[in-house]
Amino acid sequence: MPRGDGRLSHELDPGRPGPQDSCGVFGVWAPGEEVAKLTYFGLYALQHRGQEAAGIAVSDGSGVVVYKDLGLVAQVFDEPTLASLRGHLAIGHARYSTTGGSTWENAQPTIQATITGTTIALAHNGNLVNTAELAAKVQTEDGSTSDTSLVTAMLAGYPDLSVEAAAMRVLPELKGAFSFVFMDEDTLYAARDANGVRPLVLGRLDRGWVVASETAALDIVGASVVREIEPGELIAIDEHGLRSQRFAAPDPKGCLFEYVYLARPDTTIVGSNVYATRVAIGRRLAREHPVEADLVIPVPESGTPAAIGYAEESGIPYGSGLVKNSYVGRTFIQPSQTIRQLGVRLKLNPLRHAIRGRRIVVVDDSIVRGNTQRAIVRMLRESGALEVHVRISSPPVKWPCFYGIDFATRAELIANGLDTEGIRRSIGADTLGYVSLPGLIAATEQPPTRLCRACFDGEYPIGLPGDNLIGKHVLEGVGRRVAGDPATDGNVDAHGAADPETADALLRQ
Ligand code: SF4
Repeated sequence: MPRGDGRLSHELDPGRPGPQDSCGVFGVWAPGEEVAKLTYFGLYALQHRGQEAAGIAVSDGSGVVVYKDLGLVAQVFDEPTLASLRGHLAIGHARYSTTGGSTWENAQPTIQATITGTTIALAHNGNLVNTAELAAKVQTEDGSTSDTSLVTAMLAGYPDLSVEAAAMRVLPELKGAFSFVFMDEDTLYAARDANGVRPLVLGRLDRGWVVASETAALDIVGASVVREIEPGELIAIDEHGLRSQRFAAPDPKGCLFEYVYLARPDTTIVGSNVYATRVAIGRRLAREHPVEADLVIPVPESGTPAAIGYAEESGIPYGSGLVKNSYVGRTFIQPSQTIRQLGVRLKLNPLRHAIRGRRIVVVDDSIVRGNTQRAIVRMLRESGALEVHVRISSPPVKWPCFYGIDFATRAELIANGLDTEGIRRSIGADTLGYVSLPGLIAATEQPPTRLCRACFDGEYPIGLPGDNLIGKHVLEGVGRRVAGDPATDGNVDAHGAADPETADALLRQ
């Protein structure tokens, strides 16, 4: 099973995943190198950011070819396929759908030809919030329903301009979170929204350049980190070198949840190593929510650094109490309801001898619905724990994300309806403590003004449209929404803005 850091999904029940990462993107310009293979390995390192589909587009200067399919990177590509993708530049994408359903048409990179014969391929990490407005302006050729196809079509809509010049027109029209890599026959492009919500970094190979969602993907291909793509920056890389332009004034609002859970621990964000940040969060958690106990254990793997920090700060010994089955990730064999009720055992098993007769502190990165933590507390008690103290290295997740992370619906978020004491009772823990929002922000060493933390406090840094046209499946309904038609009006699906969580979020603007 391909995986970057040992986890594929945060939740333990494959049928009900937790927060889903929005996507991983990768691009390389390197004449003389096997660019498709470099892209494959880059995507492999980014697999944790999206497991629904994977794709690579390459160009040898005479044409752009794309190969993509549903599945994990290693399921989609094999040696013969990669060998057939020849060229000197390539882009790649590992997808989790944030706009549009999980279908082949919505897999990326998207591709579109202009009437002058240039072909544009594009891969996107993030989520646009003015998709409906853009959809009213442009038709996608391939019938896909992703915001990425819309942007590709917009870029192809300026036949009189170079792709670079077209991008300078199109990018300022987009609202929301986007880290794009795109290409034509000769040039690799990368662009990041003015708020820099999702990460995007630039790296250097001996004979070329690389852009990627995370520095971990640069490491895997042997590229050195040059810098982040700046918020509001478009770069173009071709035989003439690297050019940079600003399409918007930067107003950084990096995603706070990247530090908590989304990014790999070996990635660096704004100069901070994510692993070290998570250890620092665990230390703060210990100071904010001390408890007398015998053993600190993580929920593997994502709770591990914070558990280490908690143990270091509290002086309570650290150890393993739960073993993860690394090979149960995104299984395509869905468990039946009966098997699903066995729940957590699919992915975690208790180490009974470590747990029995002890007071346990168990550290996890976040609580979404609470099902996982409830199952873990029960498992630890059944294994003989005397007490179970749950510590969480993020504040309660109360608000949906419109910038590329698919949490549960607001109604499903346990912290939406219950306070900490109610959640403690619901999951059956002896005590429950979340790190505070100021404590979490301090651990990132970023000024609070440079971070998005909307899922924790409801303050959305990028305005959301007020017309209710937002949501994962918005484009699939656009054609059917007719003003005044009772058959369509106010009938947005569960992901749309007519639902309570979006309505609430809109009120909080
Ligand atoms: S709402 Fe939360 S998950 Fe979404 S970008 Fe902001 S901090 Fe990240």
